[in-house]
Amino acid sequence: MDIGAGITTGTTELREATKMERIGVHSHITGLGLDDRLEPRPISQGMVGQMRARKAAGVILRMLSPSSFSSSSTVSAAAPGLSGRAILLAGPPSTGKTAIARGMAATLGPDVPFTSITASEVYSLSMSKTEALTQALRRSIGVRIREEEEVVEGEVVEIVVERGITGSGKSGRVILKTTDMETVYEMGGKMIDEMTKEKVLAGDIISITKSSGRITKLGRSFSHSRDFSLLSPSTTFIPTPSGEILTRRTVTHTVSLHEIDIINSRTQGFLALFAGDTGEVAAPLRAQIDVKVGEWREEGKAELVTGVLFIDEVHMLDMECFSFLNRALEGELAPLVVMASNRGVARIRGTEMRGPHGLPPDLLDRLLIVATSKYNPDEVREIIKIRCQEEDVEVGPEAEDLLVEIAGDAGMRYALGLIAVSQVVARKRVKFSGGGSEAVEVEDLRRAYGCFMDPGRSVQWLKEQQGSLLVEEIGAGGNGFL
Ligand code: ATP
Repeated sequence: MDIGAGITTGTTELREATKMERIGVHSHITGLGLDDRLEPRPISQGMVGQMRARKAAGVILRMLSPSSFSSSSTVSAAAPGLSGRAILLAGPPSTGKTAIARGMAATLGPDVPFTSITASEVYSLSMSKTEALTQALRRSIGVRIREEEEVVEGEVVEIVVERGITGSGKSGRVILKTTDMETVYEMGGKMIDEMTKEKVLAGDIISITKSSGRITKLGRSFSHSRDFSLLSPSTTFIPTPSGEILTRRTVTHTVSLHEIDIINSRTQGFLALFAGDTGEVAAPLRAQIDVKVGEWREEGKAELVTGVLFIDEVHMLDMECFSFLNRALEGELAPLVVMASNRGVARIRGTEMRGPHGLPPDLLDRLLIVATSKYNPDEVREIIKIRCQEEDVEVGPEAEDLLVEIAGDAGMRYALGLIAVSQVVARKRVKFSGGGSEAVEVEDLRRAYGCFMDPGRSVQWLKEQQGSLLVEEIGAGGNGFL
């Protein structure tokens, strides 16, 4: 056995697996594919078909964030018309509900929060269901805070490095000439490195943000022809004597309500956000934060940014969660909630009742429902083509026809899953036959199809086993499993 060859192949396959993870099932979606009038283009930004649903999603986003779909830099404030509203994307499996939600996320401006959860996540966290939902809701509301920065601007007259740029323990001075005085900054090694990065020279006009020591190069004065040593700054500039403040610049930062909650509720502050283990937040603290944010808004220091909370497989929530959501949607600080379900009339979890999409009537009442429908073969073909491109897999024309047929019989998700598998099969074929094209052909696809069952064949196979697998009867409390 050629162990060496085995190891090489293994590594290649490992790399392929890593690449597949990076690609992700929705990574081809880069927007909703709408024009400025919110008209859907048939194929655009990775989206195919579902024209009405995409347009509806676009209209909702336009209400939420007027700057979406336009080059204008106007930012949105809270959208009162949408507060307390929720959207339900409803349709059969694999009809693009999650894809549309991804398209919405990609369309929103960078500081409009978008949070995505699957309903079953609320049961698996180390916190109560309502706390998990509260955190998700508060992650979807941004607070845009305005702050004034004190900025010193002026021409760099001289840069002196006292112990050399390259040695450790660098220190130096920068003499900045402002309109009516000279300001001397003493620099530590880190600041000198930053000045080098910025390529600040004597004669440059720079600004120094006093709180952070951040340096921005604004231009160059022509009064100095001589280039002094290349240097650069940042972090903590210590002004000696006190630097004159020439400008006050307003900067904005957007943080979510959840981030404010965590920073104020944990001793380790924002580090808890990186660890992901945020735990529960006490209700009185949240109330205090809401009051504080209210004050900032009144004083004109902050504004709310209504974001989006996407809850996939919403029928997995139970009655307690639904009534909690009903109440939460009425709150002033509610985001737009977009839900998705592929269920028809189904049991409402936590009750003996059935409801459309597994939802109770009082929640359904406040929903705007956006339907997605099955794709026609041409649309399926386009989606398959886009996925092949995304996964960097070449598929021959006949194999492509077969994939479209398989998607019709066994479901789109199964067909899309076969793309990467048949590529592995095609590569093996080429390797063992000593050459040829690695493009996926019908024979590769057939092999992959034979190796992996789709749901329909799986059910058929189970029937044929005539009870030879272990089963657990509902309510029997047995220890078998399927
Ligand atoms: P389910 O009800 O099973 O959760 P879904 O309606 O959310 O399904 P998706 O997961 O969005 O379906 O779609 C399945 C696959 O098909 C994904 O890879 C998705 O990106 C892709 N897809 C679905 N619809 C489109 C579309 N209109 N354009 C491009 N890709 C799509």
